[in-house]
Amino acid sequence: VVLTQQRYPVTRLPFSVVSSEDLAAFERILPGGVVTDPEVLEASNVDWLRTVRGCSKVLLRPRTSQEVARILRYCHEKNLAVNPQGGNTGMVGGSVPVFDEIILSTTLMNRVISFNSVSGTLVCQAGCVLEELSRYVEERGFVMPLDLGAKGSCHIGGNVATNAGGLRFLRYGSLHGTVLGLEVVLADGTVLDCLTSLRKDNTGYDLKQLFIGSEGTLGVITAVSIQCPPKPRAVNVAFLGCPGFAEVLQTFSSGKELLGEILSAYEFMDAECMWLVTHHLRLASPVQESPFYVLVETSGSRAGHDSEKLSDFLEQALSSGLVTDGTVATDQTRLKALWALRERISEALSRDGYVYKYDLSLPTERLYDLVSDLRARLGSQAKHVVGYGHLGDGNLHLNVTSEAFSPSLLADLEPYVYEWTARQRGSVSAEHGLGFKKRGVLSYSKPPEALRLMQQLKALLDPKGILNPYKTLPAQA
Ligand SMILES: Cc1cc2nc3c(=O)[nH]c(=O)nc-3n(C[C@H](O)[C@H](O)[C@H](O)COP(=O)(O)OP(=O)(O)OC[C@H]3O[C@@H](n4cnc5c(N)ncnc54)[C@H](O)[C@@H]3O)c2cc1C
Repeated sequence: VVLTQQRYPVTRLPFSVVSSEDLAAFERILPGGVVTDPEVLEASNVDWLRTVRGCSKVLLRPRTSQEVARILRYCHEKNLAVNPQGGNTGMVGGSVPVFDEIILSTTLMNRVISFNSVSGTLVCQAGCVLEELSRYVEERGFVMPLDLGAKGSCHIGGNVATNAGGLRFLRYGSLHGTVLGLEVVLADGTVLDCLTSLRKDNTGYDLKQLFIGSEGTLGVITAVSIQCPPKPRAVNVAFLGCPGFAEVLQTFSSGKELLGEILSAYEFMDAECMWLVTHHLRLASPVQESPFYVLVETSGSRAGHDSEKLSDFLEQALSSGLVTDGTVATDQTRLKALWALRERISEALSRDGYVYKYDLSLPTERLYDLVSDLRARLGSQAKHVVGYGHLGDGNLHLNVTSEAFSPSLLADLEPYVYEWTARQRGSVSAEHGLGFKKRGVLSYSKPPEALRLMQQLKALLDPKGILNPYKTLPAQA
């Protein structure tokens, strides 16, 4: 993977360079938690997509908030830049250094602090892996309010820092609603304890909201308090083939009407996505070949009631021609197999070549027009142009692949994709954030006044700019 500083026009800011004296100080704060072995560092310097690469010489692994506070206090004083890192599954190059920033990993901050089995409130350290938290709360009759394909690696702190959306957004909403409290260490080492578990609290400004989606640029999240809903007793997944995008939309409308409160996910993928998962990952398609596929999940409390509703919905969808083929799963193994077709598209894409990723919010009815437009625009320059995503949330994942990174293909994609999105008053980042790769496009979705206020907030909370520099906000002139 090419070094970010070689591929992108970016200049190192005048931060200090880590010295042996600094390493000794870190070792005193974190005995045994300072990693300088280049082989270990390699994995933390490169992102999941293998598109950006930093050259950090040190990785720090604190276990407690106090250790994070001491590290940041030191770095603030010495003008050392810091890159907070969770599971390193981020899609926009925010999780790895651009130059030699110190990597501050939450890997060892993986303790559950408390769980309240009446309210369903989970309080845990930021480095807990999402899948492990899911298992923990499910054993107690609850579920995490979010789920995503990267669950086996991503950390809850990383999820909050990116305001991750994912597969349960339709049902349980955004982390801005489900996160009840946060503990955050600010750039100068101040510990901000807003780790409450209250559903309602109108005492002044809701500061935790500032850090949700701030991508490590305003503070390091060290602990999270999150509301977990009860585990649904009955879950069904229907995987359906649709003859066109209009039918994908109509099936969604019909699902909302006929399934009502039990509809918990509505995802779509096009035929090229199916080709990618069946060819690169050897997954089997459970339905006849179709131009589009949708995954409909229902979650409720009475199996009989839910399957009756689902049958009505499917009968109508099939008889009216909205759906041409379909299959339904209720047991865990088949449920997982159907979800895998949708969840593993990212993985299949990364095996196809270099991936240009766009994560857009668009008016649902126009969501797929951009994919068709781009296919025509790019012609044979691209290997694949695919569209899939959280249709129920108006979130398109538009992905283009080519054998290797191509500046001319990129020039045909950008700013075209962003201008197209801005014309629809959409968002150029629905759920992945801006990180390093998208920081220059914020202005397509936000007015100058909003951008200025963001810059003022950054200056207030991190006056030396040591936290995740070169990320989220555009480079200042
Ligand atoms: C297969 C796959 C599927 C995915 N599906 C989805 C999806 O459906 N929805 C979705 O929204 N995303 C998805 N993602 C993207 C990614 O998983 C999410 O952005 C996730 O929330 C990142 O968590 P992480 O722990 O890996 O964070 P990282 O990648 O390590 O970091 C992401 C950003 O958060 C910052 N950060 C991390 N931890 C902290 C902390 N404790 N304090 C402050 N800042 C921190 C980093 O500096 C960086 O800017 C997917 C990724 C993959 C690989």
